[in-house]
Amino acid sequence: MKILVLNCGSSSLKYQLINMADESAVAKGLVERIGIEGSILVHEPEGKDKVKQTADIKNHSIAIKMVLDALTDANHGVISSLKEIDAVGHRVVNCGENFSGPTLITPEVKKIIKDCFDLAPLHNPANLIGIEACEELMPGVPQVMVLDTAFHQTMPKSSYIYPIPYEAYEKHGVRRYGFHGTSHRYVAEQTAMLMNKDPKDVNIIVCHLGNGGSLSAVKGGKCIDTTMGLTPLEGIAMGTRCGDIDSAILPFLMEKEGMTIEQMMDYLNKKSGVLGVSGVSSDFRDIEEAANSGNERAALALDVFAHTVRKFIGAFAAVLGGVDAIAFTAGLGENSITMRAKICEGLEFFGTAIDPEKNNVRGKNQEISVDGAKVKVFVVPTNEELIIARDTKAVCSK
Ligand code: AMP
Repeated sequence: MKILVLNCGSSSLKYQLINMADESAVAKGLVERIGIEGSILVHEPEGKDKVKQTADIKNHSIAIKMVLDALTDANHGVISSLKEIDAVGHRVVNCGENFSGPTLITPEVKKIIKDCFDLAPLHNPANLIGIEACEELMPGVPQVMVLDTAFHQTMPKSSYIYPIPYEAYEKHGVRRYGFHGTSHRYVAEQTAMLMNKDPKDVNIIVCHLGNGGSLSAVKGGKCIDTTMGLTPLEGIAMGTRCGDIDSAILPFLMEKEGMTIEQMMDYLNKKSGVLGVSGVSSDFRDIEEAANSGNERAALALDVFAHTVRKFIGAFAAVLGGVDAIAFTAGLGENSITMRAKICEGLEFFGTAIDPEKNNVRGKNQEISVDGAKVKVFVVPTNEELIIARDTKAVCSK
């Protein structure tokens, strides 16, 4: 069985074709700058050379057509016809409280995705275009939606209700939803496995630290709190997003700087985070390099970032009533030796410390805490595409 996994972002499309017999990626790739000048497809077929194609890619429908052409191309393709694709798994960002698990896409499901455009205005429309393009190009092939928010649906009301008038939740669905759910679920399960424990018996804090980032508190395999909220703007500081700030800053700065609400949202989503503090870049590699060369604001951005993550680790330890493990994942969490060490500085008081030798690792499953630590710390590479493929297979086999 071969499953195509599609992750349609606002202006990008990530894909993987996975052979479920051994769960290997037969091909993977990325289309960037969809609808923007300079669109590009990077296609990586297993065992063949990487291919880069530039073209005028006006929308996701055209992007998907290019991906399907690349997969079946005589030279750099990996399948002889689209008939070899048994199912398509789509990452869908937010459908409110409508689903708590992977779901076969039907006209009713598509209507719900559309009804929830307001909740994920950049992502849900792109997700729906992706689904409809596949329906058109691969008629009859089952399509499954795996929601980014699903894993967080187990949060208790006390975690997801905001302290604002309750009518905002009842009338408009304003609540904490949480994101990166597929990654949090996978990493929590992997961490329990590395501990040789049943997920039911452990409390885990998952730190998904990429360009966007979120933490989740996972108790007995279920999420009971997470840092992102109604949108992926809340929580820790991120590459370009501010995370938690005093909401009164918005009207204050809008008045001082004469900004509209659109400009303010752009400021908070695209110009803030470690980019805003450092003035250098949103990429932690650039910031670490600048800090090492003596750039004080770059060093400050790293300190601010580590502080926000450490603060939530403490908060979630309290929410969980004790913690057995902390897991680091995603681009930064898997790769930045110095950031992991910085975040865990001073956590000895609750029973953990990083072993510098064990921490000298990138992108593979490994415990990095000192021997005998009460709270174990792990690096666990995430694999959202594989989870989506497994969920898609499970739904199709029903
Ligand atoms: P993601 O969103 O999960 O793809 O993560 C992307 C982010 O991971 C980039 O913006 C980088 O800041 C960070 N990253 C990736 N590799 C490294 C590395 N070797 N050292 C520090 N940061 C890294």
